Amino acid sequence: LEGYRSWGGYSALERILKEKVEPDAIIDSLKTSNLRGRGGAGFPPGIKWSFMPRNAPGQKYILCNSDEGEPGTCKDRDILRYNPHALVEGMAIAGYVMGATVGYNFIRGEFWEPYLQIEAAIREAREAGILGENILGSGFNFDMHNHLGAGAYICGEETALFNSIEGFRGEPRQKPPYPAEAGLFGLPTAINNVETLINLPLIVLEGGDAYAALGTPDSTGIMLFCLSGDVVTPGVYEVEFGATIRDLIELAGGPLDDIAAVLLGGVSGSFVGPDQLDLPLTFEATREAGVALGTAVIMPFSSSTDFDDVTKRIAAFFRDESCGQCVPCRVGTVRQEEALFRLLNPAPTNGSAGEIGLLTEIDQAMKLGSICGLGHTAGSAIQSAITLGLIGDPG
Ligand code: SF4
Repeated sequence: LEGYRSWGGYSALERILKEKVEPDAIIDSLKTSNLRGRGGAGFPPGIKWSFMPRNAPGQKYILCNSDEGEPGTCKDRDILRYNPHALVEGMAIAGYVMGATVGYNFIRGEFWEPYLQIEAAIREAREAGILGENILGSGFNFDMHNHLGAGAYICGEETALFNSIEGFRGEPRQKPPYPAEAGLFGLPTAINNVETLINLPLIVLEGGDAYAALGTPDSTGIMLFCLSGDVVTPGVYEVEFGATIRDLIELAGGPLDDIAAVLLGGVSGSFVGPDQLDLPLTFEATREAGVALGTAVIMPFSSSTDFDDVTKRIAAFFRDESCGQCVPCRVGTVRQEEALFRLLNPAPTNGSAGEIGLLTEIDQAMKLGSICGLGHTAGSAIQSAITLGLIGDPG
């Protein structure tokens, strides 16, 4: 707490409480900042929050999604580990804006050390009068609690996360209704990612315009990128939006060897070839290129990589992590793994072109018919590996 305060921590919360800043003014600032969610979907919280019935009576909830289950993603856990008070401040500001008195932080079960850090931060904040009743003498009440998940990837999906906190199986719900209408315990809920929430104090202090001056018009501000795979120094790198894949790889000390492909956005993302190294890492440029920024995973693979093995592991991951609720994904992830196995192993098969055709058909069925994003993206990386010629031989 002392460290966080020494460089201005909690001054945004203090300011809004002291000056009784109108919640609408904070939402306007958020909209001006054009901050986009950092949890993968990139939806602007300024818009998401404007859907909340903020002045309606009754309980509302602030939810933080700290599940971070996407393989290759490693940024939120470092925020929890090294700067947990930033999240406490972001949650309290969100509570003030939404008129909510309670917040939950859903944290991945494997994140034991980050969990201890955020627990300690919450305790310190309570003792200092920053959480609880009558915060800093303002009359505003807000408290937050951590909830440890049990290791299911699907619980990073917001409605499966609600089910998990409520004590049910971690299965996504049909939408609508959306969380702002019926979220946790069926009540209005604003749910955001860790990195999204820690941007709030900055925007409150500096203003939406100052924030929007960073990055590009459609991808404002700064972002944490997760570098792993064949780079010299894997880790989390913070840059202004606009840097390219090549810039990030250079920041991480450069590639270990010739790059054959880069997995962008995690295993639910896609492979891109070395010809895309100068692609700017912005929401708009990646969308235009037909890929997704996702959770800012950049995982280069060198030319000695066994892509058969990599794609088989991705298929096995989705087969394991499908919650099994809907048929296209429950069956599709199994059939995808089987077809991939036949394609990559000398065994009785439908021929290379036949298996590739089947994999494409399964991918389309999962994209069109699945309830949630897991099914929609379970075939993306494998499809891109086929397109780039990393696996299979269409001839
Ligand atoms: Fe579950 Fe997959 Fe259906 Fe999502 S798409 S609800 S993970 S079975």
